[in-house]
Amino acid sequence: MENHAKYINFGNALRCPLCEGSLQVVQSKSLICPNRHTFDISHLGYVNMLSHSPKSRYNKALFEARKKIIMESDLFKLLHEKISAVNDTYSADSDTPAFILDAGCGEGSHLEKILGNSRNRTLTGIGLDLSKAGIAQAAKRYKQSI
Ligand SMILES: [Zn+2]
Repeated sequence: MENHAKYINFGNALRCPLCEGSLQVVQSKSLICPNRHTFDISHLGYVNMLSHSPKSRYNKALFEARKKIIMESDLFKLLHEKISAVNDTYSADSDTPAFILDAGCGEGSHLEKILGNSRNRTLTGIGLDLSKAGIAQAAKRYKQSI
């Protein structure tokens, strides 16, 4: 997702966690709200909006195993298809950009599968996670609409 944020108009989809103002991408390197609260986009492409670093038991190995199960097995296939179908019902024929949020996205493979099944090519996936190991993998992995 490196430099991907500069191509997306987030509209009002992203809000400042401090004042709830709309966040805008500025110079492809930061998200800034009207009150000048600034969140820099890392070189990997993720944005840290936390005021402190939470302790996490999740590590790179856990997320690699998670990705393997989600991407290479059919364990979540029906879930991905159903979510994609619901999204298509509401947004596939619209020109309005649509977003889907995965709160607790880990390394992002659920979003990858859901967007891959969707007919809506204006759909953008937004992943949030408290684990730096997970979000760093997600930011590195997906270059298109996540
Ligand atoms: Zn703010």
